[in-house]
Amino acid sequence: MPDARSFPDCFHEESEPLSIYLHVPFCRTRCSYCDFFLVTRLDHVESFFRALSSETLASAPFLRGRRVRAVHIGGGTPSLVPVSFIAGWLDLLSAIGDFEPEAEIALEANPEDLDVPAMRELRSAGVNRLSLGVQSFQQRKLSVLGRRHSAEDARRITGKALQVFDTLSVDLICGVPGESSGEWQKDLNDVVGLAVPHVSVYMLSIEPKTLLESRISRGIVTVPGETVQASMYLSAVERLCGSGYRHYEVSNFAFPGHHSRYNLACWMREPYLGFGPSAHSFIRTGPVEVRRANAGSLLRYLAGPPAFSAIEETLTEEERFVEHVFLSLRINRGLDVGFLRKRDKLGQNLQRMLARFHAKGWIVLEDGRIFLTGRGFLFADHIAGELISLET
Ligand code: SF4
Repeated sequence: MPDARSFPDCFHEESEPLSIYLHVPFCRTRCSYCDFFLVTRLDHVESFFRALSSETLASAPFLRGRRVRAVHIGGGTPSLVPVSFIAGWLDLLSAIGDFEPEAEIALEANPEDLDVPAMRELRSAGVNRLSLGVQSFQQRKLSVLGRRHSAEDARRITGKALQVFDTLSVDLICGVPGESSGEWQKDLNDVVGLAVPHVSVYMLSIEPKTLLESRISRGIVTVPGETVQASMYLSAVERLCGSGYRHYEVSNFAFPGHHSRYNLACWMREPYLGFGPSAHSFIRTGPVEVRRANAGSLLRYLAGPPAFSAIEETLTEEERFVEHVFLSLRINRGLDVGFLRKRDKLGQNLQRMLARFHAKGWIVLEDGRIFLTGRGFLFADHIAGELISLET
């Protein structure tokens, strides 16, 4: 059983809604750019779900009576495991927690795992939002990324999923080795043409110790430079915003009402509870905020606690301030200038900084709040970094 003592005693007395994340750590193969925690052997799927039931039951004292706003089943590849396992876990969760009537139940899926009967089965299990790891509708890009599905799979399954689920999200990656602006425009044309209600756009990041990093360092492939990547991102902002999408987070675009409730809850610093190896949680009890993470090891997870016991830290006031600045800018809900002014000892640095950001076209100021422009989103972390460096 998990070490329940690591949760604050009064956690269950909070009335704030709760979101839930599940990390399903299995994939058939590892994509060339991926550094997530996962295993590519599938012989532990059944024992993983047994361990997950234990972890869920151990969390019952904290879940009971809580309003559950969103459940996000990610990974890894949740669409790889039998739907009956997912359904069984959702049943267990809903028997303990108190799901809101409109609760979002989202599942990440890869196109090669799905057909219409499998999608209907997921829908019957309660999944109402599908997040499809398409990455591209172009065969060349999919091959470079090491994806298992074809461009034809991507188009066909996206079209079918639109008919089965209440809402659908598609991930797209730009800045893939050898990618031209024209190839990226084709991806944007495809996703807009299919009228997918939610699109996540990621610039390819080269993670250490991945196959892609090794190919780049050996000169086998080259990625587009920063300027080309930035122009691809800006063309996505222009194309998607011009097609009815709202740009509600650095990488995320949605038709009205189709944003990810789970992701938004995390970015708005609402509490969430993570299950599975490497899953993170954010727990608030009165003024105390705690972030915790399960160990990133399947074997330790299967062995049960205390083997997979979490890393846990209580946030300091400074860490809370930093999170507030970074996240407020990312979701562009407007960062209060008055809030920042308290940090500006001399009362002039902030004004100079904001004038500089404004002159670069990165921010606009409205009603005493800072909002990022499309170009500003490219520099969100840099802007946040400068703002938090203001001296108190
Ligand atoms: S399918 Fe997703 S999680 Fe699995 S290896 Fe590829 S990128 Fe990583």
